[in-house]
Amino acid sequence: MSSRPPHVLIVGAGTGGLCLAHGLRRAGISVAVYERYRTRGEGLLGYRVGIGPTGSRALRECLPPTLFDVYLATCARSPRYFNVITQGMRRTASFTLRPDTDPVNTERSVARMTLRQVLLTGMEDVVHFDKAFTRYDQRDDGTVTAHFADGSTATGDLLVAADGTHSAVRRQYLPHAVTRDAGTINIATRIPLTPHTRGLLPERIEQGISLIFGTGGMMGVLHVMEFKWDRDGTLKPGVDPADAELLRGWPGLRHDNTRDNINLVVWSTARRFPSDVMQLRGEDLVLLALRLTRNWHPHLRELLARSDPGSALPIRVSTSEPVPPWKSSTVTLLGDAIHTMTPGRGVGANTALRDAALLCRQLRLAATGDKTLLQAVADYEAAMVPYGFARVADSLNRSGTSGDDRMYKPVVGRLALLGARGYFGVTSRVPRLARRFVDDFYSYRGEED
Ligand SMILES: Cc1cc2nc3c(=O)[nH]c(=O)nc-3n(C[C@H](O)[C@H](O)[C@H](O)COP(=O)(O)OP(=O)(O)OC[C@H]3O[C@@H](n4cnc5c(N)ncnc54)[C@H](O)[C@@H]3O)c2cc1C
Repeated sequence: MSSRPPHVLIVGAGTGGLCLAHGLRRAGISVAVYERYRTRGEGLLGYRVGIGPTGSRALRECLPPTLFDVYLATCARSPRYFNVITQGMRRTASFTLRPDTDPVNTERSVARMTLRQVLLTGMEDVVHFDKAFTRYDQRDDGTVTAHFADGSTATGDLLVAADGTHSAVRRQYLPHAVTRDAGTINIATRIPLTPHTRGLLPERIEQGISLIFGTGGMMGVLHVMEFKWDRDGTLKPGVDPADAELLRGWPGLRHDNTRDNINLVVWSTARRFPSDVMQLRGEDLVLLALRLTRNWHPHLRELLARSDPGSALPIRVSTSEPVPPWKSSTVTLLGDAIHTMTPGRGVGANTALRDAALLCRQLRLAATGDKTLLQAVADYEAAMVPYGFARVADSLNRSGTSGDDRMYKPVVGRLALLGARGYFGVTSRVPRLARRFVDDFYSYRGEED
């Protein structure tokens, strides 16, 4: 490895890769990002991501301050309640979340496509689209060359794999680091938010995040996503003037067709789904979701029936297997590329952002000569692997996203469901337990005093 300021190659313009690219550029470190998609609007990225204090802190650290303010202005209205409901829409529990007055210590609802457009802002000279990474070579002079499907190459001092769950970089670098099917499948849908669809939801559900604990092992989650712009992309009346000015000056809205919607995801063990579920799209997938939720409340079923068929998306949930330590070199990894986790605890994107901020801090030390590049990479990996894989384990084992969860077993499942509902019901009704539940929720998501 050389002692010059490093040139960093990042494969993947996703959540973690773009956050890192911003941080490096802010630090004056040369960086280029290579993304397989052909355009900035392409790709089914899913619909909503919950960004908690860990993710917002990393974004504040890496993004230019004005762009961080744009990020805040583009978030959907923050959830006010965390609810647990039955398939009949009976409220088992409802916890009041904290107000979103703090820019970081808050739970934010973010549209994936909008976040992507925020992160691409001002990066036109850094991000190269239509560059599907195929392989790399590490050279004796310390450089590393990435090869792309179009025959082009790029050479730098460090190659960062930010290419997600099916990382091609990881496949070459750590072939023994594998992901496996977690055994659950999600169907994600988006329903346009209209006065009618809003009216189908009781106030606490309309204003909150709601986990649906259904009988027969059918689960769901529902979020209302409401933005500061309306159907035709113009700002709604009453938007805070500072936010309005930021949004008017932000070019990203032109690339983003995200509009107010209700995000409804249903999931269960893969055994409940037909074998061709991953090939289904549109109406067929919506009909399947309706078949699987026959005993759900008519309002929830009406929402499913009113979902935009083009939005229906099947997601097979996967999880990384633990990886034994490896010797650090001129290739490293972040986010899902190294530690894919199930969506159960809602921390995959937050952890990818945390990795990006940590790696950026380490590379700054290498750029100023305080440590070698190799030491910076080793120090990053020594910290990232333990917290990353701890999150992988929590997400799989404590959230009902493993197909082996008791919740999905025929008889035991009924008891597990009663136990889970009982736990949430009691916890939400005893003020001391409810306070502790909310404190734990925020501290797991990285809240700091
Ligand atoms: C249903 C669901 C709900 C979720 N909800 C949450 C949540 O609420 N909160 C949360 O924190 N996390 C959540 N997650 C997890 C979160 O989405 C991921 O952990 C996060 O997006 C990972 O970011 P990343 O940067 O590692 O990868 P990604 O954002 O997936 O980016 C990878 C990028 O690499 C590109 N790429 C891939 N291969 C190549 C290649 N060969 N060459 C070039 N480019 C390539 C891709 O096109 C993509 O742009 C959820 C996940 C799912 C499935």
